[in-house]
Amino acid sequence: MTYDPNNIFARILRGEIPNKTVYEDEHTLAFHDINPQAPVHVLVIPKGAYQSMDDFSAKASDAEIAALFRAVGKVVELTGIADAGWRMLANSGANGGQEVPHLHIHVFGGRRLGPMLARV
Ligand code: 5GP
Repeated sequence: MTYDPNNIFARILRGEIPNKTVYEDEHTLAFHDINPQAPVHVLVIPKGAYQSMDDFSAKASDAEIAALFRAVGKVVELTGIADAGWRMLANSGANGGQEVPHLHIHVFGGRRLGPMLARV
């Protein structure tokens, strides 16, 4: 599957759609989810055109990979959720329930997050 340059997060990265930024650096942008599932729900995305974590881990530079994971740590620090605990999640493809085809790590916190997976 080829990367769709018109997906919503690509448009956010181009500044075509506003976002509430939590953290930004050369390789990464983190912003509040528009439909939060927890008191803290932030999306951490690479600025490069990667669809999913498997695509990113295969093709991204070491600097991009380091930046993404360091950004998760920054978001946890900036939102104040480290001590109480939090969760990160990256959905991938149809079975993973991925809706936006640009890699994003969800960071959740601010309440008890419940079981790891819903029973379906
Ligand atoms: P996925 O299901 O792909 O893992 O997660 C996509 C996430 O993107 C959802 O939590 C959804 O609320 C969020 N989202 C979709 N469109 C927008 C948008 O335009 N702005 C922001 N900030 N979040 C969005």
